[in-house]
Amino acid sequence: MPELPEVEIVTRHLRALVAGKTIAQAHLLRERLSPSTPDEFARALAGGSIRLIHRRGKNILFDLDNGVTLLTHLRMSGRFMLVPDEADEPRFTHAVFRFDDRSKLLFHDQRHFGLMKVISTADLFLDRSLSSLAPEPFSDDFSPAYLHSTLKRSGRDIKSVLLDQTRVCGVGNIYASEALFLAGIHPAICANRITRPRAARLYDAIVRVLSATIEIGETITPDPMDIGGNIYGNASEAEWHVYGREGRTCPNCSTDILRIKQAGRSTFLCRNCQRR
Ligand SMILES: [Zn+2]
Repeated sequence: MPELPEVEIVTRHLRALVAGKTIAQAHLLRERLSPSTPDEFARALAGGSIRLIHRRGKNILFDLDNGVTLLTHLRMSGRFMLVPDEADEPRFTHAVFRFDDRSKLLFHDQRHFGLMKVISTADLFLDRSLSSLAPEPFSDDFSPAYLHSTLKRSGRDIKSVLLDQTRVCGVGNIYASEALFLAGIHPAICANRITRPRAARLYDAIVRVLSATIEIGETITPDPMDIGGNIYGNASEAEWHVYGREGRTCPNCSTDILRIKQAGRSTFLCRNCQRR
């Protein structure tokens, strides 16, 4: 499942490949992909030129020059591809955007959890998908002081708070394990027990793990057949310290890495390096 760094790379690759193009026709093939009907979807988007492609949290935002923004969430398995107009469409293609230059952008999604929402650009940040999100991790609003005061107010375990997009934005299961390892914090500790200096270390670790993966992504050439897809998994896996490394040893102390379940999801940790 893409987390913030992967979505950032998909956004940048989309920007390189389709920004400036004009949508001649928009087809919603799977109705449940969007709250709009196929007719509403087609009418809102046809004729619009893609003015700006940006990201908020794990949402990709296409601002058109007709006052409309298309919000896209990839969820588990949503992917984009840019192909010639006459090219075949893969199975599970849920939306097609035909451009006026005889190319088309396809959105396909094997797991069917993706989302596409048409929103007025003027009201974009009032939309519930965006208004409830915590500050962007690379913005000034996300700071050691913000993180400490947010953790202080929560009685949940720290890993659950890191995954809560309304508290910390963009961190998913992989980067939560990695950031807690780098900060030396046990994932099951109650969030409100984290001291100010530990919160500062965790802040540094979060920014570090997210930016390290984005840097790897920056070295990857955009692939129109799988836009941003080549960043998933294998590209950044070599950098992971604990995630997916159950049974192997900790890079710091050679203790075996453990896997535990929290809220039904795997967390990886070194019980020697990560203290309660
Ligand atoms: Zn260790």
